[in-house]
Amino acid sequence: MLKVRGLNAGYGSIKIIWDEAFEINDGEIVAILGSNGAGKTTTVRAITGLIKPVSGSVEFNGEDLAKKSSRHILDKGIVQVPEGRQLFTGMTCLENLEMGAFNKQLKADFKKNLEKCYTWFPKLKERASQIAGTLSGGEQQMVAVARALVGEPRLLILDEPSLGLAPNIVDDILKVVKELAETGVSVMLVEQDITKALAVADRGYVIENGCITLEGTAGELVTNEHVKKAYLGI
Ligand code: ATP
Repeated sequence: MLKVRGLNAGYGSIKIIWDEAFEINDGEIVAILGSNGAGKTTTVRAITGLIKPVSGSVEFNGEDLAKKSSRHILDKGIVQVPEGRQLFTGMTCLENLEMGAFNKQLKADFKKNLEKCYTWFPKLKERASQIAGTLSGGEQQMVAVARALVGEPRLLILDEPSLGLAPNIVDDILKVVKELAETGVSVMLVEQDITKALAVADRGYVIENGCITLEGTAGELVTNEHVKKAYLGI
């Protein structure tokens, strides 16, 4: 499915991520963990084509996407829920969801996918005509996830979905993510909240100063001495 090798990327002459290698299999939830500024979002941007990697490969179902446009990558099924949600705050909830249907096929499938989203997030049906900027933080995050789901992801990338949300709302969102993965969709869960992420992830990688320093199953990471000391305060 996704196989990243030797990925180096940054901004202009500033190199941020160094020789990253990781993979995500079909239907797997893989957590990408790290503290502020570790390079998590930069990794997401390099995979989704928002910045061009300096070197390395981003193989997705056998095709190297490293030098491809973000539109091409989106068409291949790599869809992200960006950090901070980035909704169109002046548009309604429903209009935001419509934006997720970014090509002709998805527009044709929109009604079917919308119903699925409403099954996962019933609140969004009630809020369909509400202006997105007036929704609660949790509801806005649900819109952001649902908008990505309307794009029929094969790999869903969530960049810090827990940011600024109450723990129970995070749990609701991660429950949907888990159910989605059970249908075969792969998930890259980028998180600072290591406990929450490892509660749903199969495996994880820790990024520190732009390098992957640890990897393992969720069980291995949550009991790892360095993780416990540096991130869990125990
Ligand atoms: P956070 O959890 O705080 O979002 P992160 O792990 O996602 O952190 P990144 O956003 O990838 O971290 O940032 C990694 C480094 O890249 C930081 O030092 C940041 O200042 C730098 N950086 C991010 N965006 C840019 C940019 N557009 N231009 C220059 N440097 C940037």
